[in-house]
Amino acid sequence: MFFRRLLLPSLLVGILLSSCKDGEQKKSDTPASTAEAQIKTPTFEADSAYNAVAAQVAFGPRTPGSDAQKKCAAWMQQQLKQVCDTVYVQNVNVTGGDKKQLPCINLIGSINPKAQRRILLLTHWDSRPWADNDSKDRDKPVLAADDGGSGVGVLIEVARQVKKMGLSPELGIDILFTDVEDYGKDVWGEDSYCLGTQYWAKNPHVAGYKAEFGILLDMVGGRGAQFLLEGLSRQYADGVQQMVWQAAGHAGFSSFFPYTEGPAIIDDHDPLNKLTGIKTIDIININADPRSPFPAHWHTHNDNMQIIDKATLKAVGQTLLQVIYESAANKAV
Ligand SMILES: [Zn+2]
Repeated sequence: MFFRRLLLPSLLVGILLSSCKDGEQKKSDTPASTAEAQIKTPTFEADSAYNAVAAQVAFGPRTPGSDAQKKCAAWMQQQLKQVCDTVYVQNVNVTGGDKKQLPCINLIGSINPKAQRRILLLTHWDSRPWADNDSKDRDKPVLAADDGGSGVGVLIEVARQVKKMGLSPELGIDILFTDVEDYGKDVWGEDSYCLGTQYWAKNPHVAGYKAEFGILLDMVGGRGAQFLLEGLSRQYADGVQQMVWQAAGHAGFSSFFPYTEGPAIIDDHDPLNKLTGIKTIDIININADPRSPFPAHWHTHNDNMQIIDKATLKAVGQTLLQVIYESAANKAV
């Protein structure tokens, strides 16, 4: 049972409050002696992910219509070409909550594109055009090192490691870098967020695209990050969420992935679950306070390279590699 409540206008999203007990310990980690823990996985190199975050931030804020948007998209396309088998680019316009036509560049990199079994990994890469949670320069865009850059940095490094080690031809990976997530305002309605994902969900890069499950990354590089069990993910894809948290335990990163129920966040996984039926969870740095679930640097000018911690990038990237290679070893879920 849950209800929807819109909060302060500065909040990214409408928040759903579920009837969970905050802080409830749902399940302890599976002991590291299980078969899953024995699976051979590549070593995620946090330095490489960190450099990929810094490269994006160096373009400046990647807001819709900016030069930085075009340059960063070209850079990401080049990166994906090096680590994926096929790269797709969706260069379209979407309509903002202010009715403006916004250039939107979604990029998709596919590993083993012919495989029937697929895992979708996604993150938004755009920068919020307003630092509306800051006390100064609120009308200026944020650098979005964490809220934009971190997910891309992690996924490029994950793909690089998968390419290096190789992956069973039965299993394919699709990496979706989705644009224009953060050009939203609560006053324009919750549909004003996640515009690139809404477009992709209606126009996937391959007609009739399906995946066994999806994992969204959002703010996965911040110092001291905690990835609570986000509420919409629990609602839509509880089994996927439990599987990913167990994989985090197998990889040795339970301290970043506690079994603590967090509030529900409307994020890119929401349109995916609703429009495509792909069971998708959100790995997002949140706390258990439903009135203020986001870290202090969120939508402020402090979302810069200073906040990025290699230990956080490592925890998320190594967990994803664990998920991928456990999935390759297991039958379809
Ligand atoms: Zn944001």
